[in-house]
Amino acid sequence: MDDGVIKFSLEWREGEAPNCEGLGDLIHWRDRMYDLGLIGHDHKYDVGFGNISMLSRKDQFIISGTQTGHIPKLGPEYYTEVIDYNIAENRLTCMGPVKASSESLTHAAIYEANAEIRAVIHIHHDQQWESWLNKIPTTDENVPYGTPEMAYEIHRLFNENRSMNVLAMAGHQGGLIAFGKNLEEAARPFLEVFA
Ligand SMILES: [Zn+2]
Repeated sequence: MDDGVIKFSLEWREGEAPNCEGLGDLIHWRDRMYDLGLIGHDHKYDVGFGNISMLSRKDQFIISGTQTGHIPKLGPEYYTEVIDYNIAENRLTCMGPVKASSESLTHAAIYEANAEIRAVIHIHHDQQWESWLNKIPTTDENVPYGTPEMAYEIHRLFNENRSMNVLAMAGHQGGLIAFGKNLEEAARPFLEVFA
């Protein structure tokens, strides 16, 4: 398990906690995923897993901070806004009290692939991951998380299936990502199996 390592070049502008419409919803759904054990902290590897984001304006989104998986109730001070990114150059800029999740570039790739998507949730669940692998859209097992290669891999999957709402990352143990027009829709594939 290699969650939590930021693999892109990150410019972090320290600033205020995000404060925008819909933030309460983001907090609600993140804590719901935590309660279901889908976002959390792996004690064996001592690493946080899972993250959540919502679009705040065009090409910008608010995402949970890196290494926050152990916190049961995640307040606004643990979120940050991605204000710029470039997949090809493998770099990202965020502004807020914490550094953006190491999966931020993957979230960016999803928003870029389909303009209707406004919310993304990444969780870990080994059993469900095994049962979904290659039955739902699945990224190549040789592609690691949080890299430009993963972003391109996700774009490839969208080209094959524009209406997909959940995908598995074969090269990222337990890794599943769901998305939708809003957070409730993004959470649905997970709620259907876990709630
Ligand atoms: Zn992950």
